[in-house]
Amino acid sequence: ERAFDRFFNSTVDARRLVVHVPGEKEMEAWLPGDEGGSRTTHATESSPWKPDEESAASGFVSLVGAGPGDAGLLTVKGRQRLLNADAVVYDHLAETVIPCDLNRDVELHPVGKKAGYHPVPQEEINHLLIRLAQQGKRVARLKGGDPYVFGRGGEEAQALNKAGIPFEVIPCVTAATAVPGYAGIPVTHRQEVVTVSLVTAHESSKVGGPQIRWDLLAQDKHSTLVGYMGVTSLPETVNRLLTAGMDPETPSAMIERGTTSRQRVVRAGVADLPGAVLRSGIRPPALFVIGPAVKHAEQLDWFGSRPLLGERILIPAGGEQSVVEALEMSGVEVVEVPLPVSSAARIVVSAAPLTGCIFRTADEVEALEDERALRNWGSEVVAFCVDEGAAARARDLGWARVEAVLDAPA
Ligand code: SAH
Repeated sequence: ERAFDRFFNSTVDARRLVVHVPGEKEMEAWLPGDEGGSRTTHATESSPWKPDEESAASGFVSLVGAGPGDAGLLTVKGRQRLLNADAVVYDHLAETVIPCDLNRDVELHPVGKKAGYHPVPQEEINHLLIRLAQQGKRVARLKGGDPYVFGRGGEEAQALNKAGIPFEVIPCVTAATAVPGYAGIPVTHRQEVVTVSLVTAHESSKVGGPQIRWDLLAQDKHSTLVGYMGVTSLPETVNRLLTAGMDPETPSAMIERGTTSRQRVVRAGVADLPGAVLRSGIRPPALFVIGPAVKHAEQLDWFGSRPLLGERILIPAGGEQSVVEALEMSGVEVVEVPLPVSSAARIVVSAAPLTGCIFRTADEVEALEDERALRNWGSEVVAFCVDEGAAARARDLGWARVEAVLDAPA
């Protein structure tokens, strides 16, 4: 079996769908009786068909954009790569977007910044991607928003390229368009806003002076200015814009965790925005939007006005999709979890506070019992039970809040 594995690994490149006929020396190295562990490597290295160590591995990396947080905004192609991956390397901001139905044996590598923890340095992330690919794995690198917009995706691609690892980029919607969209702000508007500028705003407080021409941006009356990573430096940014002549009344907004159940929006004239943000306690991840388009949010706030916004509800997978859709249309963030609970689902569930769980049977209550110790699963989580047996089981197991929803709503 071992000999066969050696033979297969050294002659078949499953990724590129090619095989090669081994040379005599290579075959000798695989003969049974020779159990030297280093032989496989040796055989591979000596292959005339695979010129160097890097390309000897059939690994591949997909840099997959996760979008800004709403799991439904992941692309079809991105989802497909995640489902077929051997290893998923993911950022903290992308946690809610990981498909709960990932392969159960997939390797999961968190590398993101999390409050209270140090982020994994970029160098280490690059090395991890290279190492996994060199082990011959299909790697999905899941990054918040679009991989190439302020996410250091370009650096990861360069590192892979340098190491000879084949890769692809799967773009996704970036926060600058999706987040304002959910907050009722069209970032362009015919005859009114004809330019959009995406800036990384913490740059305004950088030592050595800003690279951004805030003076030019301040003059442009027909544009929308969207700032990533700009919460702490907001007073400084606004100061620069006003000094350069921006109208202090220019409509502006700061949006925290846009597209998710925890979305919060503050709107004010630009001069008042820093104060308003401070009072509301808005924290990163958040972005600011400045420009005339922001005023449309007064009429177009389709997401913020949904009655159940703020609810994040777990449902065991396999139920009616129409129920899921109806909940989503009411503003609920629905997390569909396969039972028994997968590791991927566990990450998604604990990525943000849950407010409720829907149970159809007592078995489902049972299957989720161990998960109640997860982060973000407080005692206030409501068990909505569609079945009397489920409700009884939840009460037995000590759920503080059980609601029997015995008649499905019309
Ligand atoms: N590549 C990402 C951006 C990464 S930088 C993209 O294309 O969107 C991280 C910054 O993006 C955050 O500090 C915040 O400014 C912004 N951001 C990402 N997701 C966000 C969200 N859901 N709501 C508000 N801002 C968000």
